Amino acid sequence: MIGDGENSSKPVTNVENAVYEVANELLKAYNQGTFSVGGLLMDLEGNVLYKQHNNVITDNLIHDPTAHGERQMVDWYFENKATLSLPEPENIILVTSLDPCVMCTGSILQAGFARVIVSALDTHAGINYDMSATPPALPGTAMQLEAQQRSTYPKVHSPTKMFEREATGADISCFFKAGTTIDEQTYALTSIAFSATLDTISKKINTDLPEDQLKNPTCLSKDNPIYTALKEVYPQALEYTAPHPNQPDAGLAPYLITAAKEDLLNGGEGNAVAFLDCFGNLIMCSPGNQNLSEIQTPFILATRKYAALRFSLQLANTPDTSYYLGHPKYGTFIYAKSLELNPQGVVDLGAFGSTMGGKIPTDREQFQFAVSRVEQCNLDAFTDGLPPLYSSKDFVNIRLKQVQSHKLIKALKAGLPD
Ligand SMILES: [Zn+2]
Repeated sequence: MIGDGENSSKPVTNVENAVYEVANELLKAYNQGTFSVGGLLMDLEGNVLYKQHNNVITDNLIHDPTAHGERQMVDWYFENKATLSLPEPENIILVTSLDPCVMCTGSILQAGFARVIVSALDTHAGINYDMSATPPALPGTAMQLEAQQRSTYPKVHSPTKMFEREATGADISCFFKAGTTIDEQTYALTSIAFSATLDTISKKINTDLPEDQLKNPTCLSKDNPIYTALKEVYPQALEYTAPHPNQPDAGLAPYLITAAKEDLLNGGEGNAVAFLDCFGNLIMCSPGNQNLSEIQTPFILATRKYAALRFSLQLANTPDTSYYLGHPKYGTFIYAKSLELNPQGVVDLGAFGSTMGGKIPTDREQFQFAVSRVEQCNLDAFTDGLPPLYSSKDFVNIRLKQVQSHKLIKALKAGLPD
C-alpha cells in the first residue's frame, strides 16, 4: 500500500475482502471516538493505495467537521497524484463502509473515480438516503446520472436473511473477478458500528456554549493567546465589524477582494469566503487552494481553518476558547460569488451541513453570497431536495441567501477578479 507506509499486501479481488478492509479501518474510528466510517482507494488491479477513516473527532475534541473518510481520501489523491505517480482517476475505485454524504459525493464526483463501492446505507445524510439508488439530491440530471453510473451497492449475502440486499447500481464484476457480494457479518459491522456512534457524536458536535454566553473577541488584549492565534490564521482578523452582526456592508468588500485575487493565483475561479462571528466581527476571509486539491474551495478552507483554530486552542487548554470562539452556527459565512450547481458547489453545501451538524438558529441567515450566479429558485430547489440532515427543519435546514447590502454587491462586482 502506498498511502500509509505499510508493506503492500495481496491485491483485493473480491468485494468482501475490500469491505472487510474498510471495516477494519472503521474500527480505528470507533476506538478514536468519532463516527465509525472507513474507506480505501484501490487501483483496477486491486492494489490498495490508501486507507482512511473518519477524523471529525480526535483527542475527544471536534477536530474538523469535514474530516470524513472519503473527503480526506479525495484530498490525499489530488495532493499526492503527481509525487506518487498515482493512476488516473478513471482507474481508481473508492470503497467505503457508509453511503457518502453530500460533501463526500461532491468530492468523489469532482475526482472522477471509476467506481464507488458502498456497504451500509445512511438514511440521515447519505446521498442514497431514500434507497432508490438514484441520487435525487444532486442538482441536474447529468450529475445524477454520473453518480448513478459510478456507484455500486453490492449484494449482501445473508444466510440469516437479516441483512439481505440485492445489488443495485453499476456492474463491478469486471473489477472483482473473485466475487461481488458482501458477507452479512462484514456488512453488519459497517452498519451497526456507524449507528452506534451516530447519536453520541452528533450530540458532541452540538454541545458548544449557547450564544448568550459568548464573549466578544475584540475585548481580548493583544497578548492573549486567542487573539494571537486569530491573527496568525488571518492577520486582518477583527479589523472589520458588520453594522448588524449578520448583515455585512460594503466595508467587507476589500477583504473579500484581496482573498479572491489570492484564490485566482491558487488555481481557483477568483472567489473567497468570509466568516463573521456572532458579533459581526470578521474572523477570516479565505481563498481556496485548488492547485493543491480541486476540492479545497474557499468555503471548505474557511470552515476547516476555523475548526482547526478552535481545536488547537482547546487542545492546549487555552482558557476561555469556547467563550470567544463560538460554534459556527452562531456566525455567518459569506461567499463573494455564490456557489454554482457543480460538484464543487455540492461539496460546499454538504460541508456547510457537516459544519452545522444539527439544528441551527432560524432567526438569521448563516450562509450568504454577494454576487449571484444561480437563480434563487434553483438554489432553493437544490437545498430543499437534500437528505434529511441538510433539508429537514429538525436539523440544519440549509438556506443560501443573497446579502442584504446592495453596496457590498456593487463593490464586489466592481472589484472581484473575473
Ligand atoms: Zn461525508
